[in-house]
Amino acid sequence: MKECIFCKIIQREIPSTIVFENENLVGFNDINPVAPQHVLFVPKKHLEKIHDMSKDDSLLIGELVYHAKEYARKINLTENGYRLVFNTGRDAGQDVFHIHLHLIGGRIMTWPPG
Ligand code: AMP
Ligand code: ZN
Repeated sequence: MKECIFCKIIQREIPSTIVFENENLVGFNDINPVAPQHVLFVPKKHLEKIHDMSKDDSLLIGELVYHAKEYARKINLTENGYRLVFNTGRDAGQDVFHIHLHLIGGRIMTWPPG
């Protein structure tokens, strides 16, 4: 996707701090962190939002969640916990239309979210 900023990060066309990569996924630090730890996990495949995923994408999205939680373990969030968030569509506040899973941790959070 030519104008997608996350595709550009995946292709190294714009800079970011990549903290995880395998053949299907990339994880990189959020440019505007809302907590001490804020990492975005994205599939390399351009999918606009979770609502567009097909059944065939289930394994890919499962892998995305798995590696986000493994990374949470790696950065010592196991004991205190963390939040995993997919904002999906306009009302949820999705700004970048390439699926991304927010891993947010390192502080106490409130519920419900804004
Ligand atoms: P959302 O509101 O769920 O679409 O979240 C988009 C996230 O992408 C926000 O938390 C932004 O701070 C983050 N973001 C936007 N541009 C970049 C970038 N170039 N590098 C890293 N994170 C970004
Ligand atoms: Zn994209």
